[in-house]
Amino acid sequence: MAITSSSRAGPLAAVQQRIEQACQSAGRPDNCVQLLAVSKTRPAEMLRALAAQGQRRFGENYLQEALEKIQALADLALEWHFIGPIQSNKTRAIAEHFAWVHSVDRLKLAQRLSAQRPAELPPLNICLQVNISAEQSKSGVSLTELPALAQAVAHLPGLRLRGLMAIPAPCHDPQQQHLPFRALAETMARLNEQGLGLDTLSMGMSDDLEAAIAEGATLVRVGTALFGPRVTGDMQKPG
Ligand SMILES: *Cc1c(COP(=O)(O)O)cnc(C)c1O
Repeated sequence: MAITSSSRAGPLAAVQQRIEQACQSAGRPDNCVQLLAVSKTRPAEMLRALAAQGQRRFGENYLQEALEKIQALADLALEWHFIGPIQSNKTRAIAEHFAWVHSVDRLKLAQRLSAQRPAELPPLNICLQVNISAEQSKSGVSLTELPALAQAVAHLPGLRLRGLMAIPAPCHDPQQQHLPFRALAETMARLNEQGLGLDTLSMGMSDDLEAAIAEGATLVRVGTALFGPRVTGDMQKPG
């Protein structure tokens, strides 16, 4: 990735600058894309250091690891997003400790999250994970099943359906990177024609956030570009 000359220093500033430049190239306002810092496998102190620079949103994939960090960083006003595969016996803790879940792909999970969301908290923000490139991936609802799932989830009282999330197969050709992102954006537009009022396109990671922003991403999920290479703990495998 390009190392841009900047008066600001460090990986957070570099990622923010990539986002701003991508917004400018796309003719979109600078502040229309939120940065989710994906902190799986990173110790709490690394998150604390990023929070000290102003980062508020953090994304975690593994529940037990996430709960430890949420507790260790409870003195900070952070916003926690669950972005990993969900096991149905873990929904209660997710409903209790997170503000957002990006990886809902089955009605049963959504129903459990809704029922288990504590009444004193605002509704849990939900993105439906879509299997956009029809890969061999086991995660993500298919495009054919998505409209019915979206309508059902939109009616659950403990949830607020916000948008769609996808993890396209890794692709190093910048032109090809656009295709699944464009498909996801068009899919959300079609759902909105049915009155769903979705406002969140969770797409784009360290290697493809420019393409995602060009296609309308409103939230990019960035790990490696902020924290360096991960030693263990893969992201959800696309296949
Ligand atoms: C790990 C992960 C990311 C971040 O990927 P990077 O390539 O490290 O930026 C984004 N989204 C999901 C769902 C992940 O699991």
